[in-house]
Amino acid sequence: MEIVFKQVGFSYSKGTPFEKRALMDVNVRIKSGSYHAVIGHTGSGKSTLLQLMNGLLKPSEGQVRVGDRMMIAGKKTKNLVEMRKHIGIVFQFPEQQLFEETVEKDIMFGPMNFGVSEAEAKSRAKEYISLVGLDETFLEKSPFDLSGGQMRRVAIAGVLAMKPSVLILDEPTAGLDPRGRNDMMELFAALHLREELTTILVTHSMEDAWRYADEVTIMYRGKSVLTGETTDVLTNETALANYSLRMPHVMEFKRILEQRLGVSLEGYPKTEQE
Ligand code: ADP
Repeated sequence: MEIVFKQVGFSYSKGTPFEKRALMDVNVRIKSGSYHAVIGHTGSGKSTLLQLMNGLLKPSEGQVRVGDRMMIAGKKTKNLVEMRKHIGIVFQFPEQQLFEETVEKDIMFGPMNFGVSEAEAKSRAKEYISLVGLDETFLEKSPFDLSGGQMRRVAIAGVLAMKPSVLILDEPTAGLDPRGRNDMMELFAALHLREELTTILVTHSMEDAWRYADEVTIMYRGKSVLTGETTDVLTNETALANYSLRMPHVMEFKRILEQRLGVSLEGYPKTEQE
């Protein structure tokens, strides 16, 4: 499902003394089936951008198109609920939203809210608990007896069980240790491939963007200042420096490029001495 922002602006508390302009002139295209990273400092507008993607917020200016549904500033949007069914959002610290007495019920809650039958929701709980790397014995447990990393996986299974076409991840590895971070990122990469999910990752990590994303958008003070293919955006050293972002480590570039291309770049580029 493609998502396109055209000249989008957004202000919080519009028309009040507390009006706060959070986005202006945002132009971004997220291709269907892509893995798109959104990078920017705190306050640059990333969360606001995400909330416009599933209609939690509506544009104050311009237009947002999600699949074949259009949200235009100042106009009513039809079928917003229908649109939301296709967009799964994993907010920061999603484990804080768990509330049922068992893991199974927690995973079933979202699908049943969308009108899925109990039997179907149960079968999805089984399917998605294993997809996030936990076995079926977890289904009967209380979510509050699990470790932080396990709780987060349960919360993610609950979002996936709604079978979204787009998965939005807002700093999904915040607060995890390095091992947990890595496992979680690999999980999203696998889901992206297996489920052909359009994946949108908000992150502070240039390395994660370089490693996993096909496309990148850099947000800076409410504007989408750089957007496009990862290899173009993250190698634009001068531009990145202008937005106080550092390029990912060059050796890391090389290693990942080798993986992606399936060739060895050993000894390339050649050094002066050679
Ligand atoms: P990020 O996710 O990149 O940290 P946000 O989208 O949360 O950025 O914020 C963009 C700007 O909008 C910031 O200046 C922030 O203070 C402001 N903002 C965010 N949420 C609200 C809100 N509910 N009310 C008023 N201003 C807000």
